[in-house]
Amino acid sequence: MVIEDIKDLIPLIEENRALGLDGALSKINGQTGNIIEKSLTGGELTIKEGEYLFHITDPQEISSLALAADHIRKEDVGDTVTYVVNRNINFTNICNVYCGFCNFMAPEGDERAYFLTMEEIAERTKEAWEIGATEVCMQGGMHPEIDGNFYIDLIKTVKEAVPEMHTHSFSPYEVWYGADTLGISEEEFIEKLKDVGHNTFPGTAAEVLVEDVRKIIAPRKIATHIWIRVVKKAHLAGIRTTSTIMYGHLDKPHHWAIHLGILRDIQKETGGFTEFVPLRFIPWNTRLFTHSKGKVQKGPTDIDQLKMYAVSRMMLRGWINNIQVSWVKQGPEFAQFSLTAGANDFGGTLMEEQISRFAGASYGQYFPPEEFRRLTREIGRIPAERSTTYKILREFDDNDDEISKAS
Ligand code: SF4
Repeated sequence: MVIEDIKDLIPLIEENRALGLDGALSKINGQTGNIIEKSLTGGELTIKEGEYLFHITDPQEISSLALAADHIRKEDVGDTVTYVVNRNINFTNICNVYCGFCNFMAPEGDERAYFLTMEEIAERTKEAWEIGATEVCMQGGMHPEIDGNFYIDLIKTVKEAVPEMHTHSFSPYEVWYGADTLGISEEEFIEKLKDVGHNTFPGTAAEVLVEDVRKIIAPRKIATHIWIRVVKKAHLAGIRTTSTIMYGHLDKPHHWAIHLGILRDIQKETGGFTEFVPLRFIPWNTRLFTHSKGKVQKGPTDIDQLKMYAVSRMMLRGWINNIQVSWVKQGPEFAQFSLTAGANDFGGTLMEEQISRFAGASYGQYFPPEEFRRLTREIGRIPAERSTTYKILREFDDNDDEISKAS
């Protein structure tokens, strides 16, 4: 039997959860059981084994995979579900890179084009701080008239507005672009950002780190080897990054497994990743999907998303222990369910997030911290506010009263 709708799978997962992991595992055998057992006992999954798990279709096997990943999550990071209070500031959507999956960008002169001033950036930073944000995440289009000094000025502006605010900004592509436009090395540009107090980089613009896919969906973006190079340089300079995948378009399970293998290898070398964030492709208003004549998938299925959380928990075990769901792209309820299949972090409040909404996602404005906490308690877990780098800042009791605060 093959289940295609997550609604048909969830009751089976819950039935097996009540039975316990051993009971669920006793219902499966063969290669799936062997690979799951290997991960449960601390073995490192190969890329081939990860790919095998992405391909499974038997409902009992998928159910066991999800439960085993949840078990590993509990063993490795406990029952706390973290979130960060942050604000996204997409400083401009003006861009001439034309990635096929992106409907956020606008060419200069387009009626949708915008470019925030430094005063607006400072204002948004102060507003965010006033409602408790600890991080601003700044990313934007590759505006043809900005250069590396603009990125440096953005950081200075935020730090002058609120010195304590953590800046989590600029993808590896933007770091490369900043260095390239100033005619300096990536190391030198990273040092310049550090000099003005910059904190961490989002590991976005990774999409899928396999050139066969990448050159079709984002042919003008930096190649895989440059993304890897910039990330390693950041880590070696002491700047941590997240890691991401944007999947469910032209990619296939073997690409996902290769991508996870690349992230794991980087982490073994540098230890600089804080988390892994799977980001589902939102197809609706994108050229990649609408011009594809049916060749491009309309994002991963819900079952594929569940497998991504579970398999990444297993493949990255011992190396990247924080796996983040995306309420913006999945919706809060499915994000909540994904936390029971290997994930442990709810992501950020964001305040406004333009990129997914332009691509057709229904969510993406603001998710209040108390809602993260309510959804966390509903699945029997413990909510906690964290910093960008996963330091626990606040925990809450069942009445939602704060019970501890890190000094
Ligand atoms: S994803 Fe980034 S670089 Fe690509 S078109 Fe959109 S804004 Fe430009």
